Amino acid sequence: MVLEGAEVVAVFEIMPWVSGLRRNIAQCLDDFGIPYYLEHSVCALHGKDRLEGVSVVRIGEDRKPIDGTLRFIGCDTLLLAVGLIPENELSRMAGIELDPSTNGPVVNELLQTSAECIFAAGNVVVVYDLVDFVSEAGERAGSSAALYAQGKLDRGRREFAIETTPNIRVVSPQKLCGVLDTTVFIRVAEPVEGRCRLWAEPGIFSQTLRYARPGEMNEVKISAQKLRDLPEDARSVRIGLEAFGLESE
Ligand SMILES: Cc1cc2nc3c(=O)[nH]c(=O)nc-3n(C[C@H](O)[C@H](O)[C@H](O)COP(=O)(O)OP(=O)(O)OC[C@H]3O[C@@H](n4cnc5c(N)ncnc54)[C@H](O)[C@@H]3O)c2cc1C
Repeated sequence: MVLEGAEVVAVFEIMPWVSGLRRNIAQCLDDFGIPYYLEHSVCALHGKDRLEGVSVVRIGEDRKPIDGTLRFIGCDTLLLAVGLIPENELSRMAGIELDPSTNGPVVNELLQTSAECIFAAGNVVVVYDLVDFVSEAGERAGSSAALYAQGKLDRGRREFAIETTPNIRVVSPQKLCGVLDTTVFIRVAEPVEGRCRLWAEPGIFSQTLRYARPGEMNEVKISAQKLRDLPEDARSVRIGLEAFGLESE
């Protein structure tokens, strides 16, 4: 907007934390001197034929407006960016299973959807942070689809559901079949500002993180061999994140 000649008065975010990448705050707001307010929301629009201003209010811990914090900001444009979800029109038309937390199709590590002949990759599955992961997923989905078309796709003998602890909001893929080594992407529900451990059980993955934030995807590396080595009756993998106590720090 600034590059196109607009004056951007401010950006308001209702949540108490940054929901995008920190890098984007630095490069898109800080570098242009645009103020960024957490725990603020636009609550009224003013003007008749044309917007003349908005009322902004501070939001409390209960996510409700705080009395006495209302202020008017003169402006002629309000740009809403209130959440980004996969484009799922085609997925819905195809009748494939969707995940309510990603709003995209449920897939396994082959990027195969619940319709066995439909493979999906990229932001249609889950909103990614970085295009590099999308490129990798595109290659995997393409390769899986080609093998499927030739009748050569190995789907493994077993399917493992992924269960998560409540502080994990997004997980993709949601299922594993133990055929390919894979990265499971997760997003936490709320920030953990301090050392924490991201794990996949039983005995599949463990990593210490300096922090975990909803705006940044975390990667859980899953070895297909480790899945295949699980006891015959194992049908799920559990992924979790736990903050270290003060003693550990
Ligand atoms: C605002 C924003 C900024 C980003 N910035 C960065 C960044 O700086 N660096 C980085 O690495 N990543 C960034 N990303 C992430 C990265 O761009 C995306 O993860 C990546 O572009 C997703 O690629 P994709 O091919 O899955 O989807 P898209 O790039 O969205 O491509 C999907 C295409 O499909 C088309 N389409 C949709 N429906 C149909 C249909 N029915 N028929 C035909 N075509 C259709 C769409 O028009 C679109 O062109 C950003 C993402 C967003 C949203």
